[in-house]
Amino acid sequence: MSTLFRHLPSVGQILEALGGDGDIAALPRPLVKDLVNEFLEICREEIRQNAIVHEDALALNTLVPRLKAYVLSRSRPHFRRVLNATGVIVHTNLGRSLLAKPAIEAVAEACGHYSNCEFDLATGKRGSRYSHVEKILCDITGAEAALVVNNNAAAVFIMLETLARGREVIVSRGQLVEIGGSFRIPDVMSKSGAVLREVGATNRTHRHDYEHAIGDETGALMRVHTSNFRVVGFTKEVSLPELRELGDRYGLPVIEDLGSGTLYSLAGEGLLGEPTVQQVVAQGADVVSFSGDKVLGGPQAGIIVGRREYVDRIKKNPINRAMRIDKMTLAALEATLRLYLDMDTARREIPTLRMITATQESLRSKARRLADALRAGLGEAVEVTLRKGFSRVGGGAFPEYDLPGTMVAVRISGISADELRDALLDTDPPLVARIEDGVFLLDPRTLASKELKLAADALRQAADTLKTKDRR
Ligand SMILES: *Cc1c(COP(=O)(O)O)cnc(C)c1O
Repeated sequence: MSTLFRHLPSVGQILEALGGDGDIAALPRPLVKDLVNEFLEICREEIRQNAIVHEDALALNTLVPRLKAYVLSRSRPHFRRVLNATGVIVHTNLGRSLLAKPAIEAVAEACGHYSNCEFDLATGKRGSRYSHVEKILCDITGAEAALVVNNNAAAVFIMLETLARGREVIVSRGQLVEIGGSFRIPDVMSKSGAVLREVGATNRTHRHDYEHAIGDETGALMRVHTSNFRVVGFTKEVSLPELRELGDRYGLPVIEDLGSGTLYSLAGEGLLGEPTVQQVVAQGADVVSFSGDKVLGGPQAGIIVGRREYVDRIKKNPINRAMRIDKMTLAALEATLRLYLDMDTARREIPTLRMITATQESLRSKARRLADALRAGLGEAVEVTLRKGFSRVGGGAFPEYDLPGTMVAVRISGISADELRDALLDTDPPLVARIEDGVFLLDPRTLASKELKLAADALRQAADTLKTKDRR
């Protein structure tokens, strides 16, 4: 063993051997040096563990290709593109919505140039950054006024802080939701200084539950979208028109946290029971908040629309400054909203809506093309079958609704589904899929047509890596 250590090349020898490599030369030299040292330490450990038992494995021309792969893989940017083959369209862990092309272009324009971000071109004086999207939001939703903050969590917080700090907000026990990642209505409420007044039971809340709770301390009535769960069976919720009527009788604002919120009616897709923002505004909610990057399909943002008197108070809240959106978000949001001026255009151009409304034929055809690419890339080793399965909207929208489609089941001889899943996290780009009943599945719904070949390449890379590991 000790003689093997002496066969390890030096850092200097390795750097010299890598000298002519363009990919490596493009990297910062100190970083390459550190990674070479790391790699040599791994080799020493392999010698100690008897994973390397022969000096041939340490020859420069054997070591350098492995080393190069190591250096390139460890020096990649941390924030990376991934291929989403999970079938979850608004996947919070994978960055939620993809922007439509005009929105991507608007972002590039906004960050590469100066702009009228807070400059009024009509007067030549200071302007408001919200002016760019307020009118279009009002035109689309029918609201009197609008405001955009950093995300919907911030929107809920600032609505409560502005309209109900130090006062009670009445919410049904059936709507005290936790959205993954620590957003819980009771906690946001308490941080905002509003006092939660829960009414009703988990499964049933009546109009008189709200009415009995109304008193001198009441600041608002609130409804929260039960985004990621459903109470089914013996249930009752109080409708927005009923709450509106109570609000009018007692002079209280009605706040609605719509969660995902959609501007495009998905009733035609069989996604029933999900009101559009337009309907919620028409039914008289005073302030409504929803996310920019869930079903709307735009950038991360929290959108607040509603009655001018309330929205104006929220705008003037000093906390608003700490939640403001940047120019890239503004540009992307305006470009996305413009697509909603024609609903057919929105459905065609906005990736999130396009994926939700994809037809069975188009999904089948994509699955076939993916299967072909896999067979072409992996040959005999791969067994590919198409089968019926389900995708999800995600992002806490339509939790109980499965979108039917065609899945591609993949088996590669000698490789388990778990091994394949793990190896795919280290391909370039990485690919995230799912395993159902022990079967490795790719859902083509969330892969763009142009990504099918990349997905097949990723599987080939993963299979190659696993096989080389076996041999070593
Ligand atoms: C998603 C969601 C939020 C949080 O929205 P973000 O945009 O993630 O901040 C708040 N309330 C409900 C009901 C939600 O579904």
